[in-house]
Amino acid sequence: MKNLDQRNQIIEYSLKLNSTNLSPLRSGNISLRGIEDDIEGYLITPSGKKYETLKPEDIVFMGLNEEEEKNDSNNKPSSEWRFHRDIYVSKKEAQAIVHAHSPHATAVSSHGKPIPPFHYMIALAGGDDIKCAEYATFGTEELSNNVIKALESRSACLMSNHGQVAFGKNLEDAFELAQEIENICHQYTIALKLGQPKILSFKEMKKVLDKAKNYKKG
Ligand SMILES: [Zn+2]
Repeated sequence: MKNLDQRNQIIEYSLKLNSTNLSPLRSGNISLRGIEDDIEGYLITPSGKKYETLKPEDIVFMGLNEEEEKNDSNNKPSSEWRFHRDIYVSKKEAQAIVHAHSPHATAVSSHGKPIPPFHYMIALAGGDDIKCAEYATFGTEELSNNVIKALESRSACLMSNHGQVAFGKNLEDAFELAQEIENICHQYTIALKLGQPKILSFKEMKKVLDKAKNYKKG
């Protein structure tokens, strides 16, 4: 089977969505950039299947230019394939994507606001806040456009009244970032219970971002 290693990796991490409670049952989805028959595209979890039943052949390959669901596969790609594709097209550095309805990120997303730098770890998403994509119906082009906008200069964002999405240089990286976003959102909900948290200054966040850049280079 083509791209068997990648298919197995997607299944491994889909099971982790469940076991780590990042996105229980069949919510959320995972993809990996890939090439099949010289076509550039991505492999993505199928629509409506429980993670524990996934087999390598259930993972769907989609070309980057493909508008509609592939016909020669028995499985349909995740209904949210559109923003996966648009992230791969607009972010050359994105090699893997994790989308999750993780509890705290979803709760925070329902407020439709960016998360300010109440903690310096906000910088993990690539800037001095974590943006929240405006709400649109799942699977639509409008939602995809909103996600791409919220990901400008960022590698993760919230999706209003929905969840979160994170990408990385590999699946391990993207998954870890999604877990970090969930942690940050958990901390933020606790902080808000005590009133308005103190927010770090723009100057301080710039220092953190510069340090993080050097750290990555190192
Ligand atoms: Zn979703």
